[in-house]
Amino acid sequence: MSWDPATLDRVMCDQSSEMLLVVDPKSLQIIAANRQAEVTLGYEATPLVGRAITEVESSLADIFYWEDVRVGGGSDIDNAESMYICGDGVALPVIKSIRRLRGDVEDVLVLRVRDGASLKRGEAQLAALSGQLQATLESIWEGVLVLDSAGHIVNMNRRFSAMWEIPEAVLLQDSEAIIAFLMEQLSTPWQLQDDFTAFSQQVGLDSQAGCEITKLKNGRLFERRVRPQMDRGEVIGLVYSFHDISDFVHARQEAEEASRSKSRFLANMSHEIRTPMNAILGLLKLLQRTELSTRQRDYASKTEGAARSLLGLLNDILDFSKVEAGKLTLDPQPHALTQIFRDLSVILAANVGAKPVDLLFDLDPQLPPLLHVDGLRLLQVLINLAGNALKFTSSGEVVVGVQLMQRLEDAVRLEFTVTDTGIGIAPEHHAKIFSGFSQAEASTTRKFGGTGLGLAISLRLLELMGGQITLESALGQGSRFSFQLDLPVVQGEADGAQAPAPASQGLVLLIDDNARARELLSRMLMAEGWQVVATASVAEAQAWMAAAPDGLALNLVLADAQLQGEDVWACLAQLRARPGWAELPLVMSGTPLQLEALTPAEQALLKAFLVKPLMAVALREALCPATAPPSDGQHDGEGATANAGAAPLAGIRLLVVEDNLNNQQVARELLEDAGASVRLASNGQEAVDIMRADAGAVDLLLMDVQMPVMDGYTATRILREELGLRLPIVAMTANAMASDREECLAAGMDEHVGKPFDLDRLVRLIQKLGRPTGRSSDGSIESATEGVAETAKFAFPTLLVPGPLLEQALADGIEIQLAMDRFMGKLPRYQKSVASFSRSAAELPAQIEAALQARDWPAAQLQVHASKGMAAILGAERLAQMLAEGEARLEQGEAPDTTWLAALPAQLQGTVAALTALADALKAVASGGEK
Ligand code: ADP
Repeated sequence: MSWDPATLDRVMCDQSSEMLLVVDPKSLQIIAANRQAEVTLGYEATPLVGRAITEVESSLADIFYWEDVRVGGGSDIDNAESMYICGDGVALPVIKSIRRLRGDVEDVLVLRVRDGASLKRGEAQLAALSGQLQATLESIWEGVLVLDSAGHIVNMNRRFSAMWEIPEAVLLQDSEAIIAFLMEQLSTPWQLQDDFTAFSQQVGLDSQAGCEITKLKNGRLFERRVRPQMDRGEVIGLVYSFHDISDFVHARQEAEEASRSKSRFLANMSHEIRTPMNAILGLLKLLQRTELSTRQRDYASKTEGAARSLLGLLNDILDFSKVEAGKLTLDPQPHALTQIFRDLSVILAANVGAKPVDLLFDLDPQLPPLLHVDGLRLLQVLINLAGNALKFTSSGEVVVGVQLMQRLEDAVRLEFTVTDTGIGIAPEHHAKIFSGFSQAEASTTRKFGGTGLGLAISLRLLELMGGQITLESALGQGSRFSFQLDLPVVQGEADGAQAPAPASQGLVLLIDDNARARELLSRMLMAEGWQVVATASVAEAQAWMAAAPDGLALNLVLADAQLQGEDVWACLAQLRARPGWAELPLVMSGTPLQLEALTPAEQALLKAFLVKPLMAVALREALCPATAPPSDGQHDGEGATANAGAAPLAGIRLLVVEDNLNNQQVARELLEDAGASVRLASNGQEAVDIMRADAGAVDLLLMDVQMPVMDGYTATRILREELGLRLPIVAMTANAMASDREECLAAGMDEHVGKPFDLDRLVRLIQKLGRPTGRSSDGSIESATEGVAETAKFAFPTLLVPGPLLEQALADGIEIQLAMDRFMGKLPRYQKSVASFSRSAAELPAQIEAALQARDWPAAQLQVHASKGMAAILGAERLAQMLAEGEARLEQGEAPDTTWLAALPAQLQGTVAALTALADALKAVASGGEK
């Protein structure tokens, strides 16, 4: 069928969703109606066309309207509500519009009618949708603000108005008033216009401005985010969301502050506890040098042991908190594993006591001589693991081993193991014991002591080194802790003691009742070039001897000192009676206690007594003393002993940078006595000048921090950054807080020692840093741990202060023995220092007062600081403490409180008088002793 225009018009009319009616204005008859009208109004059977419109529109208003039309009036109508009578007589609400169309001859009226009910439904839906949207907006946890493109507020949720605390009265006002209110609340600026500009410039990108912080005057903090509302590429509005982070920020600040004060507290406490601990240890040492009954000696030595373990505990807690805070870093240096194991053996040997526990090392003979590792920390881990093993094992053996697992490029993978035959650990406790402050069982604490920190520290130290601890253990089955480390191999000379083993050493007869010990010792001896006959008892050894052919060469007997009740000596006599074996050497190995139990006659029969755990290198040295290093305490049962050396700092050139003349003098004389050559500088600037002129003239700098003209931090930065100098710089300050130390390290210094310094530790530190390869003068690699340092002290001279004087000094707050140690017993020097301190102390109150009147806090602080340092050096702890309190106030920019100022002169006078009297009394004692 072809579509003629008239048909098409008709189709269009019929397809319309609106009802269309055409009315003749004269007759008021409906002259046309579309299909929608017929269907909706129900006039399909009886057509609409031909009816009077007033039949359909029959309200009074309609009838008046149509009357108007009929007489030539009736204006157009837009969207008026009306009621239509349908074919079935039912009334239908509608919305109608009426237009008069003017014709050439006659006009017509066109009615466009919509079903009012469905329209109402649509409106209701719209209202529901918008309500839903608003409810969604209200349920968002964040405050939301919507602006249109002109910057007017289009919407906001209640959370927003609550966050900004917008009063009701303002909310009722217009957008401008509300925005003005918002801007009024800000304490940091927020330019709304910038957001519009930013977005209109990056239209098309799915842009989102970053997160900004909005700060209000009332202290609240909001995270502000904004996104544009886009329509066809245009920004038509901005949607802001505000998230209140005040509580979070506040909580974080509180947590940070808490953590800072925890560290401060820990550092302070450790300092506070260490000071009296050192005094206790010192006094105990002195006590042990006096005449004591056996029981008193026992008490004193036990007290010392307890004090040492307390100090160890203190160090553990510090270590743990340092590791927790991520403050602990490794210091890898070239180290000989044999040296680390020697240190380990010395420390562990002291722990075995009288228990029937064999302490054994199982060292792979293939180990490279020198490795790059933080020896101190590795030693700490091994001490921890092996110490635990000894603690939890009452009989059997503890084996510490290292095996070469793999050779890597320039490195080796080593497996360290610590195995014991002790109480074991139930599998359910395996994870727990590594977590810090926890032990396998509550009862462990009481029975064995300990803090539960050792493993947690070890685990974290190993993590830093790139290793992981593995534990295999079950209750009653013993334990095996192991970890693997990849360690770079250092090319170069081996440990001096490690001469290559001769190809063949001869035949050794080993007598040891412990099967594991026999196995490990045999393996070690064979690696050393020995042929081994291993026997489990003296009887077995004798049986072997009886069967041995005549003329057989036997070169050594190695017997365990633990062969209880068996007559090793008779066996030795029998052996030596055989032809050719008269000179047969006997080497015995055991604990220090076992060595002490030998009679002098028995000792005379020995070639050597080696303290367990036995190391190949120690055996070699015992058999061929020429290979031994000059001084080695392996064999004397006392651990690594003093290497006093009259001048441990011989050949080291120091520059001491210190402003206080008294301190200069003390440092110079003490360090010169230790063999160093000492130059002085009075402040940072002088030090920089000296170094600039001739950097090669100094091996190490000792740098005070607080000094006039130029402080130690600045001087260090100049030396490091401007002059590019790498020589070691050690800070010497009276401030022993961890944060002070960190500040020193951050400035580029290598170490930090507290004042008054402990001469012995300072000397060790200078030795460690001041010699190019970290070798100490005896050629061994220095591992300056506190623990090792304790066992290997330099024997500096001192003056023993008699008990009554000590007590009297303590009552005056003076640590006279520590001071005497520090002055190496040189009384005239001490007296000289006391005299010069007494002069400066007399002037101090007036100096402070003058500085305070001039409100010059730094000047006052400097005065107090200098006196504090000197008082501490002289042992006047109580005065030093008081001065430290005043200094702390001045440092904060506050004047010391009036009671402090009032008490100071008397405290100064009293202390000076006490120091002078002490020095005099000591002089009398010393000259009495000389007579
Ligand atoms: P401490 O020994 O000071 O308590 P550690 O962290 O070193 O702390 O050890 C935690 C716990 O792990 C110990 O208390 C003990 O219960 C258990 N443990 C560690 N090593 C062993 C071991 N070799 N044998 C048995 N138990 C062990």
